[in-house]
Amino acid sequence: MAKITRKPLPKSRATVSPRAGKSKAKSKVRSKAPAAATPKRASKAAAKSGQSRPTTKRTRPWTEAEVREAFSRFRKANPEPKGELEHLNPYTLLVAVVLSAQATDAGVNKATRALFAVADTPQKMLALGEEKVRDYIKTIGLYRNKARNVIALSEKLIAEFGGEVPKSRAEIETLPGAGRKTANVVLNMAFGEHTMAVDTHVFRVGNRTGLAPGNTPLEVELELERVIPPEFMLHAHHWLILHGRYTCLARKPRCELCLINDLCRWPEKTI
Ligand code: SF4
Repeated sequence: MAKITRKPLPKSRATVSPRAGKSKAKSKVRSKAPAAATPKRASKAAAKSGQSRPTTKRTRPWTEAEVREAFSRFRKANPEPKGELEHLNPYTLLVAVVLSAQATDAGVNKATRALFAVADTPQKMLALGEEKVRDYIKTIGLYRNKARNVIALSEKLIAEFGGEVPKSRAEIETLPGAGRKTANVVLNMAFGEHTMAVDTHVFRVGNRTGLAPGNTPLEVELELERVIPPEFMLHAHHWLILHGRYTCLARKPRCELCLINDLCRWPEKTI
C-alpha cells in the first residue's frame, strides 16, 4: 500500500488551479493565481455543488476528537461502505469510472451491465470495437468521446501495461479519459489505497461541514487526507459520498437525520 505523506496545505489556496481534480496538470502549484481560481469562479463552483458559501473559513476548525467522532459514527452506521458503480474487476472499474464523468452511477450501471457481460478485459473491448461500444453506452452523456477513450485506454493498457490496470496514480493518469479522480477511485476500490476521490458530493460535504474547506477538488482532497485519521481512510471516500448523496443533499440537506449534525459547522443547517 502506497504511503501517503500528509503535508500542510500551502498558505495561499488560490495558487491551485480549480480544474486540478480533472486535468493531468492539476497538482501543479503556481506562483501566480490563475484567472480560473478567482473568488468568482470559486463561488460558481460552490453554487453548483449546492453550497451557499464557498468555504467555512470563518467557522471554527474541527478538532481531532471531533473528526474521529464523526468517522466513528459513519463506521458504526455502515462498517463496510460500498461504491455504487458496478464492476467485475479493476479494468471494468476503471472503465465505469471513466464513463461516470458527468453521469450518474445508476445511468452508467444500466449501460455497463450489458457491456461488461461481453467485454470485461481490454482485449475483449478492442475486439468489440468502438462502434459497438458506442451502441452499448449511448444512453450516457458524451458517449462518443467516452467510447473513443475506452478503446484508446484499452489499447494503451495492452501496449504498455500488459493488459493490467497499473497501480500508480501517475500511470493511471496517463490513460485516455482518466484524471486524478479516476485514479483515486481505482486506487482505493481496486487496490485498497488510502486515496480520497473528491466528486461533487465530497466537495460539498467537505466545504459545508467545515471539515475540509477548499476552493477546488484538489484542495478539499488534500485537506481531507490531512485531517482524517489513517484508520478511517480506506472507507472515508465512500462514507462522505454516501453522506452527500443521501443525507447532505445539495438543495435540501436532511439535517434532522444527519449523524453529524452536532459537529457540522454549516451556519444554514436546519437543526
Ligand atoms: S447538519 Fe445538515 S448541512 Fe451539516 S452535514 Fe448534516 S445534513 Fe449536511
